[in-house]
Amino acid sequence: MSCADEHVQDLIQIKPIIARQLRSAKYGVYNHSTVELCHWTKKSFMDEGTCYKHRFYGIDTHRCMEFSPAGMFCENRCIYCWRPMEFYEHIEMPSNAVDEPQAIIDNLMHERFRLMSGYFGNADANKAKLREAMRPTHYAISLSGEPTMYPKLPELIRHLKSLKDTRSIFLVTNGQEPDMLYRLEEEDALPTQIYLSTNAPNKRLFYLINKPRLRDAWERWLKSLEFLASTKARTVARITLIRSYNYGLDTAREFAEILRIGNPHFIEVKSYMHVGNSINRLSADEMLSMDEVLAFTEALEYHLDGYALYDWSIPSRVAVLQNVKRYVDPIIR
Ligand code: SF4
Repeated sequence: MSCADEHVQDLIQIKPIIARQLRSAKYGVYNHSTVELCHWTKKSFMDEGTCYKHRFYGIDTHRCMEFSPAGMFCENRCIYCWRPMEFYEHIEMPSNAVDEPQAIIDNLMHERFRLMSGYFGNADANKAKLREAMRPTHYAISLSGEPTMYPKLPELIRHLKSLKDTRSIFLVTNGQEPDMLYRLEEEDALPTQIYLSTNAPNKRLFYLINKPRLRDAWERWLKSLEFLASTKARTVARITLIRSYNYGLDTAREFAEILRIGNPHFIEVKSYMHVGNSINRLSADEMLSMDEVLAFTEALEYHLDGYALYDWSIPSRVAVLQNVKRYVDPIIR
């Protein structure tokens, strides 16, 4: 690697001071990648419940590895984001500076084992689950930053698919890299399920809520929405409702209009949650009750042809509509 490449590589590493803060917040860090034991994975180790994706789609909460190859990189600064986005710096990851997929997974696995180690000494923890959790079956490529910014994402997903215990891979995207989504399809590297963050039914609200850095952010998002309609992957549009920004039965009609473009298999409607770094930006009043989430979901169902309410989860304040005209078995087998 040339000196210039090494310099760029140094530039995109998570800075030591931020890495220390992330580690003290129970993250694992490897160069520009991050991993964490999700709140629900930890609860599952203690037999205290599972996440709503287990209920809706059948994923193994205790065998989930939540990580990101773009830990501190994102093109947006969404007002509801619970992650430490104030640390986000760059909006580009040069391919000559990033780590190889296998190096990322191997090193993050070590970090994950380190984060799990305390549970083996906890008398109340379910040891059988812990042993199983050493070999993840589900990968949630989300955690922090925007994973589609990582230029070797197709290779990364193919690597995960090659691991013998892998059963499912979820990718969460803000829709700012539509070309990467098309590359995943072209390079036979589609995850099991693609989540598109869908927080605004129009351009004005999009800029207000997502505070994007890219001029053509709205057009990029629309292109990603179009991708959902044609891809072979399972697709989810996830709406995060924020009371005084995008909640309202009128807004439900507008969301229905724009969601027809993507025709996703599922639409998740979720309340903003007053947690993490978001508490510095939004008040707790911006959260919705489960009844309000269901009322919005039913309004959306009313305006959308071919969707039906499939399920909901009160602890996560989320409800899901299923596209009965583009039917897939909700449970991943
Ligand atoms: S799928 Fe999501 S919510 Fe469920 S355990 Fe994994 S990261 Fe947590």
